[in-house]
Amino acid sequence: MTAPHPRRFDAIVVGGGLAGLAATQRLAAAGVHVALVEKRDRLGGSSAMSGGWFALSGTGVQRRAGVEDSDDVFLADMLETGGGFADPSLLRALVAHQAHAVAAIDRADAWTDELKISAGMTIARAHLIRIRALLASLEREAVAAGATILLGRPADALIAEDTRVTGIRSGEEVLAADAGVVLTTGGFSRSRELLDLFVPDQAAAMPYGGVGNTGDGLRMAWMLGAGLADVGHVAGTYGQHAEATDDEHELLTANYLGAILVNALGARFTDESESYKVLGSAVLSQPGRMAFQIFDSRVRALSKPGVPLSDMERIEELGHLVSAPTLAELGRRLELPPGTLEATVEQYNKTVEQYNKTVEPYNETVAGRAADAFGRTGLVNGVGALLPVARAPFYAYPAVTAMTSTFGGLSVAPDASVVRIDGSRIQGLFAAGEVVGGFHGASYMTGTALTKALVFGVVAADTIAGRRRG
Ligand SMILES: Cc1cc2nc3c(=O)[nH]c(=O)nc-3n(C[C@H](O)[C@H](O)[C@H](O)COP(=O)(O)OP(=O)(O)OC[C@H]3O[C@@H](n4cnc5c(N)ncnc54)[C@H](O)[C@@H]3O)c2cc1C
Repeated sequence: MTAPHPRRFDAIVVGGGLAGLAATQRLAAAGVHVALVEKRDRLGGSSAMSGGWFALSGTGVQRRAGVEDSDDVFLADMLETGGGFADPSLLRALVAHQAHAVAAIDRADAWTDELKISAGMTIARAHLIRIRALLASLEREAVAAGATILLGRPADALIAEDTRVTGIRSGEEVLAADAGVVLTTGGFSRSRELLDLFVPDQAAAMPYGGVGNTGDGLRMAWMLGAGLADVGHVAGTYGQHAEATDDEHELLTANYLGAILVNALGARFTDESESYKVLGSAVLSQPGRMAFQIFDSRVRALSKPGVPLSDMERIEELGHLVSAPTLAELGRRLELPPGTLEATVEQYNKTVEQYNKTVEPYNETVAGRAADAFGRTGLVNGVGALLPVARAPFYAYPAVTAMTSTFGGLSVAPDASVVRIDGSRIQGLFAAGEVVGGFHGASYMTGTALTKALVFGVVAADTIAGRRRG
């Protein structure tokens, strides 16, 4: 049998989410003959389903809001959140190249003024971006610059000649890429097999994320000896309703506004200000693998309609917010053991009262503060004054852990080259976005997955375009 005649491009990008579109746009704009292959019949992947929060430092939005941030604090927060496991050279590159993200968002006119502090941050750094407008703008620009977009075209394997990647196979067809292949296939949140292999304790999380995200790119590069980073730390995100559909996520983090988390026995079990990935693991070991976000009317008033993670109106419209005039009635509606919710809230409120008394009049150091049984010292990452759960009516949001994104994956160098397990580069192979590991370590800062996808899609493209010129 004769080998099929390859269709020739300079570069091939595999996977059409944010990282893939960013790489394709940048390559096409640099005059590189590029094809984007997407396994599904539409572009978008997890990126199109996402909340649209981007972690960025030193932006105009922050300046207008009077938030003083810096690249150094951004880097320090990511290193801290990663618990010493993230690769500092990748994080430095992320911070150094974030201007690529800002430029793409500018061109798409996709900024909003929404800015908040969220998981892993000590400063308000999560910027709400109109993600679909951004994706559409990148696609438009890529096509206008001459990129070919092939839908319904899964890449099945990488083709290597000697040790250099020279193209992909998709079904019967071979697509040749003389300058390089960029893997942007997303994570493995939809692969039970890979979740069982890497993080069996997370396999009970609700499967979520782009339905095409079955770890294909990771497997293809792995077959060529690629190293892996952070995969053992992958964890689901706490805060999703168990009946949420693929069309609309229902992530809520009322805990970062003042809610407490209570399990099906009516008891607290964790520091609610931790990253929602840390909370995801904690909730998976609770009875029924769920927890209620319990809050009062003060926190309910902080809802932001249309703003992902803070939109309680939408959750109420969907019939997923439970409310009651008293804690006792709320406990009954949630079918908690009688009296437990009232006792838990009373205990928590006492701690908050003690804590606020200790901190405010004497301005004592953190070490001198009254200790919460679970170590909570603030709303999020120790920042923000704690609130008692005290003003009726009271609310509960029953939520589970969802595997929205898998933040470990292929080992890469700061220029997006895929690196083998011995540290050497696989010539002709690049990767960006959720398929890549090394950026998050043990946990995850809100907004870093999208920023990483956009920034390193561009970095991969620049590496390829630069080598062609050089
Ligand atoms: C509900 C939800 C909310 C989120 N919110 C946020 C947030 O606010 N901020 C944040 O930073 N992160 C968030 N995330 C995570 C973030 O969205 C992802 O990590 C990011 O979008 C990944 O981008 P990507 O381009 O790498 O992958 P994706 O956008 O998932 O794109 C990968 C694409 O590759 C395709 N593909 C897979 N295999 C193949 C193959 N063999 N051949 C061809 N194509 C293939 C897929 O079909 C898909 O279209 C969220 C995720 C979810 C699910």
